[in-house]
Amino acid sequence: MAQYKHGQFLTQSQHAAFDTLHPPGSTAPNAGIYRCAGCGDEIGIAKGHTLPPQNHHQHGSGQGAIRWQLLVFAVQRG
Ligand SMILES: [Zn+2]
Repeated sequence: MAQYKHGQFLTQSQHAAFDTLHPPGSTAPNAGIYRCAGCGDEIGIAKGHTLPPQNHHQHGSGQGAIRWQLLVFAVQRG
């Protein structure tokens, strides 16, 4: 599970971008931390880069396919 210390620098959001499940190997539409909805694995990635492929990590039975979900959106200035 993602961790942080200084909560004053994070803001909760209801943006729909946090609800989308992205398949392995697809393009990350936003910079930030993505979490696998199947197993909870987390990665950081830049906007426009390719999310890890199907063979990035292994799932046990019952965890389903790898699906990357935006967890923390990195807001870049300018
Ligand atoms: Zn996973």
